[in-house]
Amino acid sequence: MSVTHVPETDVLRRQDPELAEILLGERERQASTLQLIAAENFTSPAVLAALGSSLANKYAEGYPGARYHGGCEIVDIAERIAVDRARTLFGAEHANVQAHSGSSAMLAAYAALLRPGDTVLALGLPDGGHLTHGSPANFSGRWFDFIPYGVDAETGLIDHEQVRTLARGHRPKAIVCGSTAYPRHIDYAFFREVADETGAYLIADAAHPIGLVAGGAAPSPVPYADLVCATTHKVLRGPRGGMLLCGGELAERVDRAVFPFTQGGAQMHTIAAKAVAFGEAATPAFSVYAHQVVANARVLAAALEAEGLTVTTGGTDTHLITADPAPLGVDGRTARGLLAAAGMVLDCCALPHVSGADVTAAHVRGLRLGTAALTTQGMGEEEMARVAALLAGVLRDEVESRKAREEVRELALAFPPYPG
Ligand SMILES: *Cc1c(COP(=O)(O)O)cnc(C)c1O
Repeated sequence: MSVTHVPETDVLRRQDPELAEILLGERERQASTLQLIAAENFTSPAVLAALGSSLANKYAEGYPGARYHGGCEIVDIAERIAVDRARTLFGAEHANVQAHSGSSAMLAAYAALLRPGDTVLALGLPDGGHLTHGSPANFSGRWFDFIPYGVDAETGLIDHEQVRTLARGHRPKAIVCGSTAYPRHIDYAFFREVADETGAYLIADAAHPIGLVAGGAAPSPVPYADLVCATTHKVLRGPRGGMLLCGGELAERVDRAVFPFTQGGAQMHTIAAKAVAFGEAATPAFSVYAHQVVANARVLAAALEAEGLTVTTGGTDTHLITADPAPLGVDGRTARGLLAAAGMVLDCCALPHVSGADVTAAHVRGLRLGTAALTTQGMGEEEMARVAALLAGVLRDEVESRKAREEVRELALAFPPYPG
């Protein structure tokens, strides 16, 4: 897939040059800057082909063999393949691959297990919880009574004693484990034990690490959680979408919670693309990739720390790093802007050791970055060291922005995400 020879884009260019320019511009942006956003990745050309296929035209409410629409005999096979591949890949008795996104999967998980007003224990938002873990701006915070647990302010690690105490005190209907910003493995066995002791369901929101799980580079929540929610577009490298995994006894409730309770027609082109991604994730090459993602993140975290940034928890087990740039004289929001100008694209985040100090700015104190996309491009540990040096040079104002942008472009172009 090259930038110059894409028939689909040629068709679009003839019919709608305005939009064609935007597609090409975005492709060029992705190829010439460094995608350090922890939740992003590059799908394969095969996944993109499924996404851009005629399956996008098909209405398919319901499930394979039980649809509300005619003409589903072929897309039924696509969904059965996706479900079978997901079950095999993750060792789950049941998989639902229809959830439109990670948030939709969480909505369906709550719909399957809870009633409005139920109490739920989840990681607090300032400590790395997701919007769907009880944000007042989200349905979760409006419809359920969320009790937040946190991370230890010094170590940045989940405060297990607090989880146990809160669970005993509040007797939640469900406990959620999983995060948008936690760089370490989650101790699923611990959460299972607390859930059993207090009579709660355990929901694992593995949106971030599920790709590492697929590649054998992170522990699996599947044997421990009643329900696992995930995305397919982060480290897993599939199309933008969600999925749920569970045991046989919850299968029907989960399916009904997705359709018809929270969604209408399934997106069959996305489901086909999920099947392609699950196929890719089952290969030895993907396992090598997942382990390289973690190796790269470890090197990048160590290099950032050596450059003077404070890396939360002192490192990472995963693809994800959060760090405080304050020792270099900038806060997260300023750092994100300086780095964006240099072509290094990443997010701000809250930091455990400064949350509370200044509540209004607390959520933009830190930087959150990941190695999934760079690793897909073929970058290794040597490139991570270079990225850390460039990043720190920009933040310390040692490298001029134009020069940094040129160096970033040169590095990115040496590892094209879609070569050929
Ligand atoms: C990314 C993420 C989600 C939601 O994903 P969307 O597809 O953006 O809705 C849910 N939970 C966690 C922990 C995440 O990191």
